[in-house]
Amino acid sequence: MANYRTENPATGEVEKTFDELDRDGALAAVEKAHTAYETWRQTSPQDRAQVLRRTAELYDERADELARAIAVEMGKPMREAKGEVKLSGSIYGWYAEHGPDLLEDEELDAQGALRSVVRKEPVGVLLGVMPWNYPYYQVARFAAPNLMLGNTILLKHAGICAASSSLIEEVLRDAGLLEGGYINLFASSKLIPDVIADPRVQGVSLTGSEAAGASVAEAAGKNLTKSVLELGGSDPMVVLDAADVGTMAKVAARARLSNCGQACNSPKRMFVDDAIYDDFVDALTQEVEKAAVGDPTDEATRVGPMSSKDARDDLDEQVQDAVAKGATVRTGGKPLDRPGSFYAPTVLTDLTPKMRAWSEELFGPVAMVYRVSDADEAVRLANESSFGLSGSVWSDDPEKAAEVAARLDVGMAFVNEHGTTLPGLPFGGVKRSGYGRELSKEGMNEFVNRKLVRVA
Ligand code: NAP
Repeated sequence: MANYRTENPATGEVEKTFDELDRDGALAAVEKAHTAYETWRQTSPQDRAQVLRRTAELYDERADELARAIAVEMGKPMREAKGEVKLSGSIYGWYAEHGPDLLEDEELDAQGALRSVVRKEPVGVLLGVMPWNYPYYQVARFAAPNLMLGNTILLKHAGICAASSSLIEEVLRDAGLLEGGYINLFASSKLIPDVIADPRVQGVSLTGSEAAGASVAEAAGKNLTKSVLELGGSDPMVVLDAADVGTMAKVAARARLSNCGQACNSPKRMFVDDAIYDDFVDALTQEVEKAAVGDPTDEATRVGPMSSKDARDDLDEQVQDAVAKGATVRTGGKPLDRPGSFYAPTVLTDLTPKMRAWSEELFGPVAMVYRVSDADEAVRLANESSFGLSGSVWSDDPEKAAEVAARLDVGMAFVNEHGTTLPGLPFGGVKRSGYGRELSKEGMNEFVNRKLVRVA
């Protein structure tokens, strides 16, 4: 089957296939992106900001079309798909607004010379390798700051996102980006090391699994090419107390079921204080059972299908492994008996370290709840994970929760909210969740030449 295709996960039908580049085609794209770079780097920050501003407007104007494409290709419910389109547009808008200031020279103490400044210059052609779970948002995080800087982009999107990927390229072209400034690379991941080895490619950013990250980082290391990795997560949500357990459970269910549970920073492990654990599990189970599962193009749907049958089967294997080793299924725990790749929203309790689910990422609509005796136990278990993306601590006393949140080994710690993403906030993890940062001013610090210019 063609790797680049639109395969509707709600029906299992392949609706469209796309041609794939061979090695020569991929390297020709590098050449084209490099030619564009030589021009783009000379443009003014204001001109580049104008392209990004228009991109943001087009995301707004084309919101329905863009949202529908991802609902069909990866199963995101329309309501969430529209939210993703809006967020993505706002990222281009944020860099349009703040980019020129962020690119201003930084004056240093001249230390005996006439002046010393740090200039921020682009580095060249960059390769982005992106996943299917947030097709527009993942690309925006990488493309917006780097186009603002004056870099150009080759984008290898997930095979199942060929349609949304084409729409992104179209938006940027219609916003006035020069030819070759952003090129979709519909190429096999086997060709990625060849692209990275091309000396005109000056950086690579991957969002995806640990395996793909390791493979890209290996190729980047061999070629002394800078890399940024945004990988998986098994985020802790620590609930210390809650006067209103019902509302707490509603928030937890919504966060875990968002995007059918297929978010790197979804609260996959919930550590709940013994005092409210039983009430919380009952309320969470009720909330999860209430979630409307269905066709993602239907506005009433809250939980769509998983992105593919393979993803669903992998998740089910992890759940069955846990069940076989003693986990309790409070609700769900199996694929739904209907066409497509639907999985029943699930709550699991009584998890133990010998289960795969204890240490692996569960990339689907499965909440795992752990009973803890106090904050110390919650922090210890939370930090046992090999991942360190984000985490949250919840309490009616936010200051107490903030002290506990500060002890989490993560790149992003939240109190009384989980996984907030805004253009002006940095995003990234530690440990096996990757390295580097996206969004905010940090997102412009990865693929930039901070050039010292000293005039004696
Ligand atoms: P994946 O298989 O790693 O795919 C991601 C991208 O990498 C796709 O474009 C894929 O292309 C490509 N790819 C796969 N193997 C590759 C290789 N050996 N060399 C080069 N490219 C390769 O990821 P996924 O399983 O679809 O996505 C889910 C994962 O992404 C989860 O672990 C999730 O937590 C993580 N994620 C992390 C973040 C974050 O910001 N930290 C955000 C979202 C998702 P093909 O489709 O052609 O195989």
